[in-house]
Amino acid sequence: MEVIRAGKMGFCFGVREAVELSEALYIKEKNKRIFMLGMLVHNEHVIEDLRKKGIEILEEETVLKNEDDLAEGDIVIIRAHGTIKKIYDRLSEKKVEIHDAACSFVTGIRNTLVEMENKGYDTIFIGDKEHPEVKGIISFGKRVSIFGNLNELKDSGIDRNGRYAVLTQTTLNKNNFEKIREYIYNNFPNAEIFNKICGATFVRQKAAEKLAGEVDLVLVIGGKKSSNTRKLYDISKGINPKTYLVHEPEDIGADWFAGIKKVGITAGASTPEEIIIKIENKLRGIIDV
Ligand code: SF4
Repeated sequence: MEVIRAGKMGFCFGVREAVELSEALYIKEKNKRIFMLGMLVHNEHVIEDLRKKGIEILEEETVLKNEDDLAEGDIVIIRAHGTIKKIYDRLSEKKVEIHDAACSFVTGIRNTLVEMENKGYDTIFIGDKEHPEVKGIISFGKRVSIFGNLNELKDSGIDRNGRYAVLTQTTLNKNNFEKIREYIYNNFPNAEIFNKICGATFVRQKAAEKLAGEVDLVLVIGGKKSSNTRKLYDISKGINPKTYLVHEPEDIGADWFAGIKKVGITAGASTPEEIIIKIENKLRGIIDV
């Protein structure tokens, strides 16, 4: 049996930078309290590793309710997918050291939204309104209409002649984006569409798509709360029904591999290499038995 890795998988640069920033702070600032705001990245293994180093999770709710015990000089790391404006403001008031690990794709969308609003445009935002990245970005706007998908936009009574900046979540599926672009182009004469889909997500999706067609079974490795891992799973499952989402080696079922000759592996953008290797080792163990 052969194990084949997707051409591109695992840590994206935004996640890598957030983790590296946290580790550097841990080494440099031994005498300060360091917190990460929510899950720094959507992977439980990474979070556990940082917690072992003493970097504690600070929940957004706690900051919003003013129930934290933050003191001047404490360090707060903003996670890769950013946070809401109110939290940035609250943290500034508390005079803590803010280290913003928000990925440049996320800050790029945020900046465009603010820039276009200042030019008089309203915002149409397409993305998962429950996702922290989306909540964070739209909190910087004053006139944002948010839709979960293209159908929601189609069904809405939004004025077709308004001036809109159209923005989307970084992890939106490329094909969906093209459908949205076409629809906006044909129905909203005064809209400007911005393609801000994260390249890292797209290349991982393409690689997963290719892999799924070439192997008998696919393991998609990633955190339970990782949106981009879930999208890799959906893409792969659509092509190869024998696709499984695994978080850690224990999730692998020994009985999945009967009659399987080629196993493909891919991993979400917040999945650390150590977990991928552990899963490959477990897999080899099963295969060898
Ligand atoms: S998936 Fe893309 S947007 Fe999200 S952190 Fe990684 S590089 Fe940034």
